[in-house]
Amino acid sequence: MIQLEHLNKTYDGAAGAAHHALSDVSLTIEDGDVFGIIGASGAGKSTLVRCINLLERPTAGRVVIDGADVTNLKGKELLRLRASIGMIFQNFSLFQQRTVLGNVMFPLELRREKRDAAERRARELLELVELGDKVDRYPSQLSGGQQQRVAIARALANSPKVMLCDEATSALDTRTTVSILDLLADINKELGVTMVVITHSLAVAKKICNRIAVIDAGRIVEEGSTADVFSSP
Ligand code: ADP
Ligand code: ADP
Repeated sequence: MIQLEHLNKTYDGAAGAAHHALSDVSLTIEDGDVFGIIGASGAGKSTLVRCINLLERPTAGRVVIDGADVTNLKGKELLRLRASIGMIFQNFSLFQQRTVLGNVMFPLELRREKRDAAERRARELLELVELGDKVDRYPSQLSGGQQQRVAIARALANSPKVMLCDEATSALDTRTTVSILDLLADINKELGVTMVVITHSLAVAKKICNRIAVIDAGRIVEEGSTADVFSSP
């Protein structure tokens, strides 16, 4: 379970003007949720989600994961937390100089897994995302949907309990978006991975999220089950 308690995040702007990206944000994300964070561009969605793996540090408030306050984690403990949380991005963020297989092996190499074991695991994950026949390609030789599936396989390499998806389908066409959302839903159901899904698309949120928080100008303005949020007047 992820608990965000009274998070505030202030960025120092130009000429000392402070920008409040998050104001008193509290949220609970239960294990097994597909939790949607929706809102307009600039609303604070990325900042909020990046507080979960502490890519951003909140200016005030607490991040509590499975009962442990992780807000101020440092060093090895911080690296371990980050490794337990997979992340995917709008622009895929693959290593262009590495093959598909090399991309998925990367987190395993960081963990100093034996080469054979790392390769076996990476190949399994690429089968899971239906790219078993593309292991030797480079990212630039793949379609956008295929690149995102490589990124998903790489995010799964450390067997995360949680995956953060930051506008993961925003660069994709409608048909490809549906196939990526289906894959994320399968990973949630079959592997039990909790999903936190940032999107500006109501259609995306409706399709896979069981719970939703709507964020506007750094504040949660609505939160609840997807059915409740979309049926509210
Ligand atoms: P969203 O993901 O909803 O588009 P963000 O969390 O990226 O929103 O940004 C929220 C606000 O904080 C925006 O106004 C943005 O310009 C600002 N912001 C985000 N990151 C930084 C940063 N590193 N420095 C200064 N301002 C930032
Ligand atoms: P998707 O099913 O992900 O939508 P596309 O229909 O976009 O895939 O692509 C079909 C095929 O074309 C894929 O097998 C992919 O390998 C290849 N392809 C797509 N874009 C490129 C590209 N920029 N360079 C090389 N091959 C590409």
